[in-house]
Amino acid sequence: MSLPCLILVAALDGQAALQHAAALAALGPHPWGSPRGPVAAEYVASQFRAAGLQEVRLQPFESHGIKGTNVIGVLRAPGPEFVVLAAHHDTAPAAPGAYDDGAGVGILIEAGRILARVPSRPRTLVFVSFDGEEAWSTGKTTTAGSRAYVQSLGNEARNLAGALVVEMSGFKGGTPVLHPIAYADPLKPGRSVIAPGWLVGALLAGSRDGGAPLGLGDPWLAWLYQPAVRTFRVRLYGDDLSFVQAGLPAAFVSDSSFTAFYPWYHQATDTPDKLDAGALGRMGASVLAAVSALERMPRSSGADPAWFAAGPGAGRGMALRPRRALRGARPPGRALAGRRCGRRALAPGRSLRPRPLAAPGAGGVGLPAALPRRPRPAPVAPGALAPPAAGPPGAGRRGGPAGLRLRRLALGLGGRGGAPRLRAAVDASARSAGPAAPTGPRGAAAGPLRVPDRALW
Ligand SMILES: [Zn+2]
Repeated sequence: MSLPCLILVAALDGQAALQHAAALAALGPHPWGSPRGPVAAEYVASQFRAAGLQEVRLQPFESHGIKGTNVIGVLRAPGPEFVVLAAHHDTAPAAPGAYDDGAGVGILIEAGRILARVPSRPRTLVFVSFDGEEAWSTGKTTTAGSRAYVQSLGNEARNLAGALVVEMSGFKGGTPVLHPIAYADPLKPGRSVIAPGWLVGALLAGSRDGGAPLGLGDPWLAWLYQPAVRTFRVRLYGDDLSFVQAGLPAAFVSDSSFTAFYPWYHQATDTPDKLDAGALGRMGASVLAAVSALERMPRSSGADPAWFAAGPGAGRGMALRPRRALRGARPPGRALAGRRCGRRALAPGRSLRPRPLAAPGAGGVGLPAALPRRPRPAPVAPGALAPPAAGPPGAGRRGGPAGLRLRRLALGLGGRGGAPRLRAAVDASARSAGPAAPTGPRGAAAGPLRVPDRALW
């Protein structure tokens, strides 16, 4: 690890992040559109300025007749490419939101303070605190502020290298994990979109090489998590939803996972006394290391949706196994290996061609037909998965270490009938959304920028 990286991952002040969360929670619940919402935005803007961010501004928006305010701060680099680091300052209607997501905003502010001290950078860093992430509570849309932000990018979106969203952080019993979740594709009913493999690989490798490794989805059940979030519409998402559905590379981090979920989520008891400064520092270190990787990773394009992370420990120290590129060139993930700020980043790609995973049968977790609410986390029960009896031919042609066996098991959860069954379970909301007007391509291979402004699930 280079010296700059070492300094970065060592420095984030978890106590300071906790104080920001406490300050925001002291407002009481401040959901999107409430009178306290602008007060929260002003607090974040003032802290962005104090942290040394430049061009700090409020971004007012209106969606479905409700007004909100995003907060944006910038650290400039000479070139056009930029990285987004984000959190959200609005809360669920009844929650003061210390954990969700005042603490994420606290990490955003403190990360900004550290990164502002770095004299130069390869890519512009844009810090955004969104409003309206909890827009589900209005019954009208989801992630309203980030949708407005993505829409505001217009053709600039093509210069977005990647976006990382900091969600729900500071849980002492949790573990920092990356959540790349398959969301409903707004343009292709019944299909999903997910963070590209090259982004997931860069984030995992960057955090690991920075000494603060992120797990993938769950510290214990990463092998199960991955097919689960591709198969079921899990009711877990962050503002990355707005980016991914627009064809932009993004994922979110949290220290809540399927096996350890913050107990006071969206409740009036989500107060600062539940937060742990050490856990915030730990997440902050992972975030800084991951952002450092996003600043430096080679520019990629393409959806690259087929990947699987495997490795010892089923969560920590994972390596991404990219599918070998079918259209020439080497696997995208390989290009990420050996970047600055660390040792060899990724394990060599193996030829892996995951097949579509099966939708659940009768009695399984079905796809919601209407806009879901998410007053509670909805962990996927292992028992709800299809039995692993009908593994795809060739999925396990290599025997051997645990990682491979896990991979084989995970692939075995699906079958050839998966795709039609998944397609049959069309999300009514996605169907009604229709094709959004493309406002600008993000790389030729990535297709047009899609900016849906309706709730999709
Ligand atoms: Zn949140």
